[in-house]
Amino acid sequence: MAPADGEQVKKFWADLGLPGLIDVHTHFMPDRVLAKVWAYFDSAGPLIGRPWPITYRDEEDERLATLRAFGVRSFTSMLYPHKPGMAAWLNSWAAQFASRTPDCLHTATFFPEQDAKRYVYEAVDKGARVFKSHLQVGAYDPNDALLDPVWGLLAETGIPIVIHCGSGPAPARYTGPGPIGRLLVRHPSLRLIIAHMGMPEYSDFLDLAGRHPTVHLDTTMAFTDFSEATAPFPRAELPRLAHLGDRILLGTDFPNIPYPYLHALEALARLDLGDDWLRAVCHDNAARLFAL
Ligand SMILES: [Zn+2]
Repeated sequence: MAPADGEQVKKFWADLGLPGLIDVHTHFMPDRVLAKVWAYFDSAGPLIGRPWPITYRDEEDERLATLRAFGVRSFTSMLYPHKPGMAAWLNSWAAQFASRTPDCLHTATFFPEQDAKRYVYEAVDKGARVFKSHLQVGAYDPNDALLDPVWGLLAETGIPIVIHCGSGPAPARYTGPGPIGRLLVRHPSLRLIIAHMGMPEYSDFLDLAGRHPTVHLDTTMAFTDFSEATAPFPRAELPRLAHLGDRILLGTDFPNIPYPYLHALEALARLDLGDDWLRAVCHDNAARLFAL
């Protein structure tokens, strides 16, 4: 990280009068899994489709130091399985990571499999505060019957779930507003956080948030030059973005982003929705949701 980066990010939140940032969508995972993710980004494979240089490709302790230098007070360790038999192991890693990283919200995940109920109950018992579900990489139906006890428990406990269910950067069989809309009809109180603002189906996911008061959206990669080039946010939706300002949460995809962290913040500021909106999105909404 260039030292100037940290100073500029700090100036951003200090100028808003905030005590720091809360970033609900950052990735920490076991080294060998992260290495595979990075290799995939390097290959610009079919789920990605274009060059994606990772800005913060550092050792774990250095990545943590970078987030702290930015003044990120709380963050997550988003991890997710791409196949069965992997989630329980990821969850045990994430529990350990959270126990040695007090500013990380204990994160967990799942996959539709027989064992899912057991390890999700266990993660919740151990204090998981947020879950991650990735319908693009996992390629599963959120309405799979094997997940019924999982959604039931998460609805009952009110634990938020960051869910990648939009069809960006590439569609998969169960991405898009349809499967998630059906899930919310069955479990209307789920506190879903739609990752990436539902990119590129922004309007459909704003509709969903309009229908379901427990649905939030995270800003991860949305509004940046990188995303605007291929999946521009429709300007006509800015009033709805303002209106839903108490349910939009800062997320960034740190460290796997092809631009500096500051750009994600500037991309929010240039929407011109005002300082109150920025304060809510960059800190206050997540502080309320996670009781921080
Ligand atoms: Zn992500």
